[in-house]
Amino acid sequence: MVNRVLVLCLMWLMSMNASALQIQGELIQGNWVQLVVSPDAMIEFEGKTLKADQQGRALIAFSRDAKPQKTLRIIEPTGQKREYILQIAQRDYIVQRIDGLPSRHVTPDEATLAKIRADGQKAVEARKIELATPYFLDGFIWPAEGWVTGIYGSQRILNGHPRRPHMGVDIAAPTGTPIYAPAAGEVTLAEDMELSGKTLFVDHGYGLRSDFMHLDEMLVAQGDRVEKGQLIAKMGATGRATGPHLHWGMSWFNVRLDPALMFNLDRTLARGAKIENNQVVWED
Ligand SMILES: [Zn+2]
Repeated sequence: MVNRVLVLCLMWLMSMNASALQIQGELIQGNWVQLVVSPDAMIEFEGKTLKADQQGRALIAFSRDAKPQKTLRIIEPTGQKREYILQIAQRDYIVQRIDGLPSRHVTPDEATLAKIRADGQKAVEARKIELATPYFLDGFIWPAEGWVTGIYGSQRILNGHPRRPHMGVDIAAPTGTPIYAPAAGEVTLAEDMELSGKTLFVDHGYGLRSDFMHLDEMLVAQGDRVEKGQLIAKMGATGRATGPHLHWGMSWFNVRLDPALMFNLDRTLARGAKIENNQVVWED
């Protein structure tokens, strides 16, 4: 009897220990992970303070250039604080240097610049939203079929001037190709923008969202709730785009993430791969 009580106590202690912090997902640059901690524990990460939900769930994420070590603090409802050092796997990104380009100075006029700034501010505000519904729990599907023409993190350096890295996955197909919600969520932005054209944000909760750019048509409006797999838009080339494609970005608050990391691919997504039947098909 004593032994049995002891074993039960040990098991309880071990399970308490195990539930102190669980991380679901890979600790790698550009990814988000789900934490499971004590219900209502507070989480401090990257200058943000988050509250775990009633099941102890919260999300955190790592930027494209996240350092190899990140500090995570958990404050239990009892006030007890614990600190963890997370080891973040580092990635290589494609960096393309193109020199000897004729210098072209295209300066947008004042009205266009004002529109670009106003668009940017709307996106900044939408990225501050923290919806309390965990829409992300059901997992994600690819939002469209087509050829992968751009990947997360790649960067061009033109005449020595680094451009902003590409913060999403580009999928190219003819104008009008259907675009489906990759997971359930709420539409927190639906705007015709100067650079990104017709743009939708679908918020998946807890700071995590998808953005869809260069749309030909938006079939949902701000405030709408969407189901996973619901037709939300049609592919196009609005804004600054050289041809019809979907730019699918993801972010955790203002941290830009790599949507491809959610699909457990056996190799890094690359240009020339094809998305078909919710699968990545390699053409080589
Ligand atoms: Zn893109």
